[in-house]
Amino acid sequence: MSNSTVVPLYEGTFSVAIDKKFNRIDRNEPPAKGALKLSINPFLIKSDDQNILFDAGIGDLFGGDTTIETILENLADNGVSDYEISDIFISHLHFDHMGGLANRENGYWELTFPDATIWVSEGGWKKQHTLIDKESESNRDFFHFIDSMANIQFLSDEDTPINNVSTKTIGGHTEFHQAIYFDNGNLRCLMAGDVIGRRISINRNFAAKYDFMPKQSMQARDDLKKFAHDNDYIILAYHETDFPMFKLTDFDNKSGYTVKNI
Ligand SMILES: [Zn+2]
Repeated sequence: MSNSTVVPLYEGTFSVAIDKKFNRIDRNEPPAKGALKLSINPFLIKSDDQNILFDAGIGDLFGGDTTIETILENLADNGVSDYEISDIFISHLHFDHMGGLANRENGYWELTFPDATIWVSEGGWKKQHTLIDKESESNRDFFHFIDSMANIQFLSDEDTPINNVSTKTIGGHTEFHQAIYFDNGNLRCLMAGDVIGRRISINRNFAAKYDFMPKQSMQARDDLKKFAHDNDYIILAYHETDFPMFKLTDFDNKSGYTVKNI
């Protein structure tokens, strides 16, 4: 068994309204009326010679108040450089989950993690090609740049593409949404993007209007919670603000799961 760690790389908290614009707010501030409060936490997993990211953060795609420096500084704080990221798994292809893959810090597009293999759902990537023309100009440029320059590898519906990591297509929030699991016998954690984006979804199951398939999302969420509880996995919640890593330690029919912060 080897030593391994998982850490959230907090990029900030945002008020996100129906227009899907990300307006930065303070960590303790409520969102605007009718808007969602979403934080952004890509996760770094360090294990032996692997430095893995689960989702890539917001990057600099969202206007003046987001920059690529945040993720690079967060990685440096954990002793990891941009060249040392070996693999990046993307739960789904929304730009707040993959924006950090490339940046324009120097005035032109560059890969943020030049040596990383980027793992995405094959179905999702192909679908993104058919949808990309509806996106903003910078999102289109970003996608075409990644598509041609990055080392993109496709995941099948259930896959174990590298040591210790497995993936599964769960759908729900998007048609080809992935759940991503790490298990090296020592550290066990799972990330399910927006299907378990915040801890509020643990004991309040709801069909969300922003999901592509709301019922499917509820079912996948239930299955993942049970799996995490039964197998002692840490849940990594990408959009949670204060404690984005937790375990489900107990269950009873009345009060649901007991959530323990990690
Ligand atoms: Zn999201």
